[in-house]
Amino acid sequence: MFRTFSVLLFAIAPALASADLRVFACEPEWAALAAEIGGELVSAHSATTALQDPHYIQARPSLIAHVRRADLVVCSGAGLEIGWLPALLQKANNRDVMPGKDGYFEASRYVLRAGQTDSMDRSQGDIHPEGNPHIQTNPHNIAAVASALGKRMAILDAANSETYEANLNDFLGRWSAATKAWEEQARPLRGARAITHHKSWVYLEQWLGIEEAANLEAVPGVPPTATHLGRLTSQFKDGGADFIVRSPYQDARASEWLSARIGIDAILLPLTVGGTDRAQDLFSMFDDIIARLLEAHAGE
Ligand SMILES: [Zn+2]
Repeated sequence: MFRTFSVLLFAIAPALASADLRVFACEPEWAALAAEIGGELVSAHSATTALQDPHYIQARPSLIAHVRRADLVVCSGAGLEIGWLPALLQKANNRDVMPGKDGYFEASRYVLRAGQTDSMDRSQGDIHPEGNPHIQTNPHNIAAVASALGKRMAILDAANSETYEANLNDFLGRWSAATKAWEEQARPLRGARAITHHKSWVYLEQWLGIEEAANLEAVPGVPPTATHLGRLTSQFKDGGADFIVRSPYQDARASEWLSARIGIDAILLPLTVGGTDRAQDLFSMFDDIIARLLEAHAGE
């Protein structure tokens, strides 16, 4: 009896180990999405947390080790991680996850990018020369990426392709229903005017019909200056904007300073999973974004 049991265990263990698809995500939203689609078949690790600016992190040895072991690297792309991902991939030297391989997945390839131009000029300090990379703030983008990511995971772990497909369909059904509910709730926000710290929210604004009145950064990636904040004060002191939005990793002082002078709310929104206490997965992230926007809007 004991012998049969140990033989069975021996037979099962390697199968379980090989079923584990190791995902290295550059940002928490993609780790969360991989976990939604992969369920127990996947272990997902995010290089950054919601409290870090994904444009700028260090290619630490622990991250290199994660990439070395990864079966799939999932990043926003569009230049978001250009300051650290190439170094990470080079040092990890894992040929399965290099650009061009099935193990390398750039989410921004599967959506229509905002602000994409032919010029790739970074000389003005603009860190979005390939179009805006912060695509996760529109749930329709999440759905498009989910479909592509689910197919990719099924290719990489073909033995479990049916499970990925079923999980993906289940996720897309729940996501579509949630998206409709968010659109319904957010209707009063249509036409609202936002000043945002960084150009992190253009996809959210397009989705909900919010107007981007200005940014605290004069150019994406250049921190707010006293001169620029002074200019915004003159521009908006008699109206023209409804709230100021920042992400958890951005210094609150610039938005609080402007808020005090022009008399509109400065609000913090979760830019990704983990950005607020409530934003624990992709669903609660959008629940919280909409709730916080409605609260600021109602308080005017
Ligand atoms: Zn950016």
